[in-house]
Amino acid sequence: MAGERYDIAIIGSGPAGLQAAINASIRNKKIIIFGIEELSHKVVKAPKVSNYLGLPLVTGNELKNAFQEHIDEIGIKITYERITNVYAMGEYFALMVNEKMYEATSIIMATGIEYTKPLKGELEFLGKGVGYCATCDAPLYKGKKVAIIGHNMEAVEDAKYVNELAEKVYFVPMFKDKLTLPEDIEIIKDVPVEILGDEYAKGIKFNNSELFVDGIFIMKDSIMPDQLVPGLELEDGHIKVNRNMETNLPGCFAAGDCVGKPYQYIKAAGEGCVASLSAVSYVNNLK
Ligand SMILES: Cc1cc2nc3c(=O)[nH]c(=O)nc-3n(C[C@H](O)[C@H](O)[C@H](O)COP(=O)(O)OP(=O)(O)OC[C@H]3O[C@@H](n4cnc5c(N)ncnc54)[C@H](O)[C@@H]3O)c2cc1C
Repeated sequence: MAGERYDIAIIGSGPAGLQAAINASIRNKKIIIFGIEELSHKVVKAPKVSNYLGLPLVTGNELKNAFQEHIDEIGIKITYERITNVYAMGEYFALMVNEKMYEATSIIMATGIEYTKPLKGELEFLGKGVGYCATCDAPLYKGKKVAIIGHNMEAVEDAKYVNELAEKVYFVPMFKDKLTLPEDIEIIKDVPVEILGDEYAKGIKFNNSELFVDGIFIMKDSIMPDQLVPGLELEDGHIKVNRNMETNLPGCFAAGDCVGKPYQYIKAAGEGCVASLSAVSYVNNLK
């Protein structure tokens, strides 16, 4: 059974969702934000963040604490629930947590990117030698050995970038397209099955071999968010939005990793700000 109706429901407590919540609260909207106590796994797991404006050289955990302090200051409380389905009902959205329902006039999708079928050990070593963002983390592996498991052609560009810093780069193609890589990048044509390690990742176990490296980047595509919101239009595996962060569904906005690359904190927060202001205008225009 539904209770009160919110002006804006925000799904996701990463930088995109939090920034959206801050702006909407400042604009006096009645909001609800769904997420997790840690705020975002992708924030707390970052070993070092060197590209967030105003907070140079923080750890992911310090960044998370700064976000928490900011929302506490404004009085934003996160609802620790995972939305299982969202239905566009015309005048409002019904957000389901299994059998429980919340109602909101507009929604902001800030769900990030969820990766499918992680390798054995992948999540265990995420942030401990395993990363999803070569642009962010490549400097950690200067003069070291790095493997890149690439599920798409964009991973090739990442490999070239990492190769400028690392001592040795191995590339594991998970696709069949023709590859053009610098000669010194070694291509491994075997199927990865497990990330090996103890405290930190130390290598990859393949079907027929093992490789020992200092860092591993896994570059892959995501689960589709249209499973969460039926009718939501996607483009290249991300939620399709315009510059106002409007989706194809009136009243549904989106921001952050779920709308596309680059996967960066500051980009997610900036888009959260835009999505929030667009949602505020949408709600005001209805009243
Ligand atoms: C190890 C690591 C290091 C990184 N380092 C950097 C860096 O140095 N610099 C940089 O700019 N970027 C870095 N990134 C990338 C950065 O983490 C992401 O770009 C950023 O977190 C995206 O923010 P977001 O708000 O879009 O999504 P996320 O931070 O992924 O947050 C998504 C939120 O949505 C919630 N959620 C998802 N589905 C649901 C649901 N159905 N119901 C309720 N809640 C839901 C999740 O629980 C989470 O709270 C790093 C990423 C990783 C993994």
